[in-house]
Amino acid sequence: MANFHRAPEAADGAVAVRRLEEALQRGKAQAATVVDRVLNCQPHDAIVKAAAMTFRPDGKRLLMEAGEARWSFHAHAFGQAASIVAPKGAEYLSMLRDGTDWQLSLLATNFNEWADLCDTFADPGGRSALRRAHKGNPRNRSCPSCKRRNVLTPADVARGYQCDRCADAAERGY
Ligand SMILES: [Zn+2]
Repeated sequence: MANFHRAPEAADGAVAVRRLEEALQRGKAQAATVVDRVLNCQPHDAIVKAAAMTFRPDGKRLLMEAGEARWSFHAHAFGQAASIVAPKGAEYLSMLRDGTDWQLSLLATNFNEWADLCDTFADPGGRSALRRAHKGNPRNRSCPSCKRRNVLTPADVARGYQCDRCADAAERGY
């Protein structure tokens, strides 16, 4: 788990991972998958990064906003997208989307949480605690344990992390 990315001392950086696990337990996994696809379908150097996206309920619709741009999820398009990216969750998503205020709010909250995770982690939803690389946080640092190059970002180094390979080895106990 994420704690093994702390090279010497114990972890506190597993908070976001725990948040994700809680989200999954609340049955929101499929909604998360949708946002994951939305975010990953963007070009790598997307003008809009995940953190700039905000989801919010707007009357009876869910809006996705990024700067001046806005996308709404209308019933037909939403249903189609949902059934493609989340076959098992499509009904659940549509139920939330077609629901009352609190259900739309739940959908928006979940989408926003996932967008945050995608902006923070290299592998959101995966086992790695390593941070996402971007222009301001390039993956150009060496692992303190195995000395492999370009496996960590400055944000990883600041947290005392080691690389995925070393973290996995530590977790398995050899
Ligand atoms: Zn390493």
